Amino acid sequence: MIGAGVLGASVAARLAVAGTQVTLLDQDRPGHGTSRWSFAWVNSNDKGPRPYHDLNHAGIRAWAELAPDLDGAAWYRPVGHVELAADGAELAARVERLASWGYPARLIDAAEAEGLEPALLPPDQQATAAWFPEEAYLLTEPLIARLVAHLTSQGGTVLTGERGRVTALDTGPGHAPRVRTAAGAVIEADEVICCAGRWTPALAALAGAPGTVPLVAWDTPGSPAPELVVRVGPVTRDGPVRVIHTPQLALRPHSGELLHLEAPDVPVDLHTPEAELRRLAGELLNRARHTVRGLDQARVVAARVCVRPLPADEQSIVGRLPGAEWLYVAVTHSGVTLAAHLSRLIAAELAPGAPGTQSTSGAGLAAYRPARFAGTAAHSPRR
Ligand SMILES: Cc1cc2nc3c(=O)[nH]c(=O)nc-3n(C[C@H](O)[C@H](O)[C@H](O)COP(=O)(O)OP(=O)(O)OC[C@H]3O[C@@H](n4cnc5c(N)ncnc54)[C@H](O)[C@@H]3O)c2cc1C
Repeated sequence: MIGAGVLGASVAARLAVAGTQVTLLDQDRPGHGTSRWSFAWVNSNDKGPRPYHDLNHAGIRAWAELAPDLDGAAWYRPVGHVELAADGAELAARVERLASWGYPARLIDAAEAEGLEPALLPPDQQATAAWFPEEAYLLTEPLIARLVAHLTSQGGTVLTGERGRVTALDTGPGHAPRVRTAAGAVIEADEVICCAGRWTPALAALAGAPGTVPLVAWDTPGSPAPELVVRVGPVTRDGPVRVIHTPQLALRPHSGELLHLEAPDVPVDLHTPEAELRRLAGELLNRARHTVRGLDQARVVAARVCVRPLPADEQSIVGRLPGAEWLYVAVTHSGVTLAAHLSRLIAAELAPGAPGTQSTSGAGLAAYRPARFAGTAAHSPRR
C-alpha cells in the first residue's frame, strides 16, 4: 500500500481487518500530505452527476457508521452546515434538487441561521440561507492516527521516511509486483495499491503507465488545484461550532481552539510569494471577524497553499491501471468525504467475502475505472 493519507490509511485498515497482510508505505509521516490541511467537510452538497452524488452521500453515512468503532469522539464532528448565499436562486435550486434526491437540506431564514449557529454575526435579514443537518467535518490527524493504529493492531506494518519512499515499481519473475524504496529495500507483494493523492501520476509513470491517471496539473501558475488554507486562533467559547459558508468565506472549527478558513476567490498557486500569502491570510482573518464571534484575540497561526488531487473529469479514479494491471490506484477529490466508503468498496473488491468488507451501498466502482481515460483527450487535463 503506497500513501498514508486519509484514503490510503482507510484502505489499509479495511484490508487488515479483512485478514490481509498489509505493509503501508509513506515518504512522510502518516497523514502529512493533502489530508492534513483539508477543509475536511464531509458532504455531498454540490456533487454531480447523480451517481457521484450518491457515492458521496454514502461517504457521509460510512463515517457515521465507522465513528463508534474508531474512537470517533477524537475526530468525528457531525455538526451540520449553515450556508448563507450570494445567489439565492442558485441555493434554492440546489436545496430543491438535493431534497428531491433524499438528501437532508432545507432553506431557512436569517433568524433560524443565527439560532443554529449563535456565533454568526447578524446576517442580512433578506439573505437566503440553508441548513444541511447531515453534513460534518473530520479532524484528519487524530483520525489517521487511529486508522494507522488499527492497522498495526491487526498485524500490519507501517514504513515512513526513506524506508517508505517508493522509488521504483515493477514486476519480477512470475509477474509478481515489486516495490523498491529509497532505503534500498525490495518488497514483493501480491497486490500493490497506490493511494498517493496528487503524486499518483508520478507513481503510475514509475510503473511504466504514464498518462493513465490524468489529474489537473497542480504546479503550473494559475492552476485551480492549490488553495490557501489559514488557521487562526485562539477562538473564545462563543466561537462557531458548525461548518459555515458565506459568499466571502468557508470556515469550521479546528482542534486546539483554532478555526480553519478558506476562500475560493483568493488567487494563489504554488508560486505565490510568501509575503503575499501572509497578506491574504490576514485578509481571511479579517473576513472571519466580520462573519463570526469569538475572534477578538485571534491571530494567524498557519497559512499555506495546499493542493487538491483533481481528476481531469472531477470524478474519482479507482482500479487497475491499463498497461500495468498489477497496480491498483485510488485517487480522488473529496477524498475526506469518500474515504470511509471508497475503502469499503475497494476492500470488498480486493478481499472479496472477507468479514468487514461488505458494501452497504449500491454505489459501485464501475464508473470510476482508470480505463475510461484510455484514448481520450482527458490525458490533457482541461483546467
Ligand atoms: C484546500 C483543500 C480543501 C479540501 N476540502 C475538502 C473537503 O472539504 N472535503 C473533502 O472531502 N475533501 C476536501 N479536499 C480534498 C481532500 O483533502 C483530498 O481528496 C484528500 O485529502 C486526499 O487524500 P489522499 O489520502 O488521497 O492523499 P494525501 O493525503 O495527499 O496522501 C497521499 C500520501 O502519499 C504519500 N506519497 C506520495 N508519493 C509517495 C511516494 N513516492 N512514496 C511513498 N509515499 C508517497 C504522501 O506523502 C502522502 O502522505 C480538500 C483539499 C484541499 C487541498
